[in-house]
This record gives sequence, structure tokens and C-alpha cells, in this order.
Amino acid sequence: MVYKSLWKLAPRILTRAQHWLLPTRCIACGCAGGLQLGDAHAPLDLCSACYRQLPFNRHGCLRCGLPLSETASGMTCGQCLRKAPAYQRSYCAFEYRYPLASLVRNLKYGAQLPPARVLGELLANHLLQHHPQPWPQCIIPVPLHISRYQQRGYNQVIELATYLHRRLNLPLRLDLLERIRATAEQAGLSRTERRRNLRRAFRTTGSQLPDHVALLDDVITTGSTVNEAALTLRKAGVGYIEVWGLARATNRSA
Ligand SMILES: [Zn+2]
Ligand SMILES: [Zn+2]
Repeated sequence: MVYKSLWKLAPRILTRAQHWLLPTRCIACGCAGGLQLGDAHAPLDLCSACYRQLPFNRHGCLRCGLPLSETASGMTCGQCLRKAPAYQRSYCAFEYRYPLASLVRNLKYGAQLPPARVLGELLANHLLQHHPQPWPQCIIPVPLHISRYQQRGYNQVIELATYLHRRLNLPLRLDLLERIRATAEQAGLSRTERRRNLRRAFRTTGSQLPDHVALLDDVITTGSTVNEAALTLRKAGVGYIEVWGLARATNRSA
């Protein structure tokens, strides 16, 4: 009995020991000291001063996550009212600006794992605070095309998704959506060009798709990528699609 409970506590004890032997360093400013957030097992590699500077997206458009003013809190933006996206709801934890933007760049291009853990924990915390029941049946990370994956050797969205899967106890499905076209980099393209660039970029795989899914991306700029992925899932019969994003750009034309 004692052995059994010790065995259950082992991961927690090991993480504590690791943090005692190798004290946490803030991934944003490099200072010593970590933040204990929610019921996470170990302190995050982020100090409380940097945490307070994070650009929380407190009043995002319910539909697309676009940061809105406080007076528009809990509302839908004008763009979504004119033309609703292919997904029904968004949860984007932050606005895409300093210091979060540099952490995301480290995750994306530096293949660094501490940012994946910190950013995953921050997004999980946002969802635990704001997401009502029922939770989606699975998490689907926006896939990279195989050529981009081979070039980078890493898909940062899968790293985030793996973290959320463990933390929220939701299935992670990498087998339902595939990127079949290697699209040009979206940065620098206009909204219309982005949409054209992404047309028929995805396809669903597998015959049985869940009815309620969360589509996960790291940064949502105009929403064109998640919209095209959601459209593909919807055409394949998925009834309710949520978009989960770490950060949302403040300007739609950015
Ligand atoms: Zn710091
Ligand atoms: Zn909107």
C-alpha cells in the first residue's frame, strides 16, 4: 500500500528534486525564480514580473478571438458578424505582442522545450478558467506539410498539443487532418492572398470523425489557416469546431 502511493507520487517527487538541483530560470528575462501557477506540479520557468507583463487577451471576440476593447467584452467582432468563420468559438489566451511574441519565436524557430512547457501551461490555465462544459472530444493540432516538418524537424503546435493533452486529459489526434499542399509562408501576404494560398491545403483522414473538436494553432494572425482547416473538417461532417490559440494578432490585416 505504502509502495503504491510512493509510486504514484514518484513523478512529483522527481520534478521537485530536479527543480531543487537545477533551479528554474525565467525564459523571458533569465532571472532565477519560477512561478507557481494553478495546481501545476512544479514552478514554471517564468518569473512573476514577466508573468505580469504578459498581454492577456481578456476581451477576445467570442467567435475569432480578435482582441476587442473592454466595452465589447463577451461580444462578436464586426468582421465575424459580416462573415462568420467556419469554426464556432475561439479561445486565444494572449495578444500576439511582447513579451509573448519572443517566447513564441523561441518555441517556433529555436525548438526549445522550456517555452513549450511554459506556453502550454499558460494556455491550459486559460482554458481551465474560461472553457465551459462540455469539453471537445479531442485536440487536433494544425498540421505542417511533411516537407516543412522535415526542414524544421519539429512541429511546435504538436509540442503544445502534447502538453494540453496531458494537462487537460483530452485525446490528441494527429491522424485526422493532413496538410497536402506545401503552402508559401503566410507572412507578408494580404488577407485575400492568404486565403488563395491555403485553398485545399488540408484533407481529413480516417472515416470516423468526432462531432466536437478543438483545432489548435500557436499564433492566429488573420485566422485564414484555422479557417481553411475548419472548413475541411466541417465538410467532412464535424459539427462543432473550436479554435484554441496561444496568441491572436491584434490587427486583422497583419
Ligand atoms: Zn522574468
Ligand atoms: Zn471575430
